[in-house]
Amino acid sequence: MLTLAIIKPDALAAGRAGKILSRLEEAGFTLRAARLVRLGTADAEAFYEVHRARPFFRPLVSFMTSGPCLPMALEREDAVRALREVIGATDPKEAAPGTVRALYAESKERNAIHASDSEENAKREVAFFFPDSAPV
Ligand code: GDP
Repeated sequence: MLTLAIIKPDALAAGRAGKILSRLEEAGFTLRAARLVRLGTADAEAFYEVHRARPFFRPLVSFMTSGPCLPMALEREDAVRALREVIGATDPKEAAPGTVRALYAESKERNAIHASDSEENAKREVAFFFPDSAPV
């Protein structure tokens, strides 16, 4: 099963991409696709469409377009649930010790990594960034 992770602009700018990928590989994920992208405003709005009505929507779009990010399709058994577990809670102050966000996130918004939150969203999000590629 595939899920989508994005190493967010804060973590890339801080040079933490390698450490984060390493942590994910240790947790049993295999990298199936990756792309370094600088999202435009329309792309970020489309990706986070479900959050459009939230008060943090504009700051979130602004943050996600502030620099390059690294979407990755990751494979593992029970991938969606397992990736949510290894990234930890949205706010690093609440994230369990050893999770990616506890280790590398700066704040609730600048929180290092995105992970799909359901199998349906994982399919949509993998197709959003990797529309042409069958998993290798
Ligand atoms: P996730 O599934 O853990 O990434 O969390 P959500 O889907 O609830 O939110 C999407 C993203 O919006 C989060 O990863 C944060 O980057 C950002 N975000 C969520 N809640 C807040 C908030 O209360 N304030 C701010 N500034 N950003 C938030």
